[in-house]
Amino acid sequence: MPELPEVETIAADLRPHLVGRTIVRCELGFRTIVRHPEPEVFVHSVVGMLITSVGRRGKYILIKLVDELVLVVHLGMSGQLRLVDPATPLPNHTHAVFDLDDGKQLRYRDPRRFGRLLLGTESALRNARAMPRLGPEPIDPGFGADDLYQRFRNRKALIKAVLLDQSAIAGVGNIYADESLHLARLRPDRIAGRLSKKSVRRLHEALRVSLLLAIKNRGSSVDSYRDAWGEFGEQQERLQVYGRAGEPCFTCGRPLSLVRIAGRSSVFCRHCQR
Ligand SMILES: [Zn+2]
Repeated sequence: MPELPEVETIAADLRPHLVGRTIVRCELGFRTIVRHPEPEVFVHSVVGMLITSVGRRGKYILIKLVDELVLVVHLGMSGQLRLVDPATPLPNHTHAVFDLDDGKQLRYRDPRRFGRLLLGTESALRNARAMPRLGPEPIDPGFGADDLYQRFRNRKALIKAVLLDQSAIAGVGNIYADESLHLARLRPDRIAGRLSKKSVRRLHEALRVSLLLAIKNRGSSVDSYRDAWGEFGEQQERLQVYGRAGEPCFTCGRPLSLVRIAGRSSVFCRHCQR
């Protein structure tokens, strides 16, 4: 599933090509990929709209339009948002096509259909519960180690589960939770509320380092993730623990362990992470 670095890569790539453009046509191949409002209303409302900015919040791509409207894209498990020449053959599982006034096409493709498109003002989307309340951005310079400590305090859940909880911290998924915990030398199955301030400080730094490095390397193409041009990221070559259960730890050489936490597999080193 695309996480913060992958979504950030797509948003940053699209920004210079989308800002200032107008959406002149929208066609849905699979109507229910639009979760809010009704698909007909979505198509009708988005056509003729000028794009004013492209950003990211958690794992959501926010394409801002005039009148405070936001076209929200969540890539789910296998979503791909791509900017192409309209002559490019339309691949299977393309669920939405947006024609732009410069002749380019923005396409949303999603074989597994866990992704979604939303349209509305931010407050309308919140009120309709189309978008959940998200925790702070872990790479925001204003989000300090003390803030993370406050988020963990009194939580009886395991650290890994809290890292995956989007209302606690936004944008972290299975890949970067495992990578950050390894870098911070913390086991994923420790109780979040029992971490010392010192441990939380280490984890805060590890989250920033892991996420920023992955953005620099244009994300991890561990499954179907591709950037806005259809290219692979490079961070998958550099992952330390994710997807490496049973393989030797790069630090100590012992085999990496696998546990299930919050329904997700977690890979860690029993020797290096305490
Ligand atoms: Zn190790």
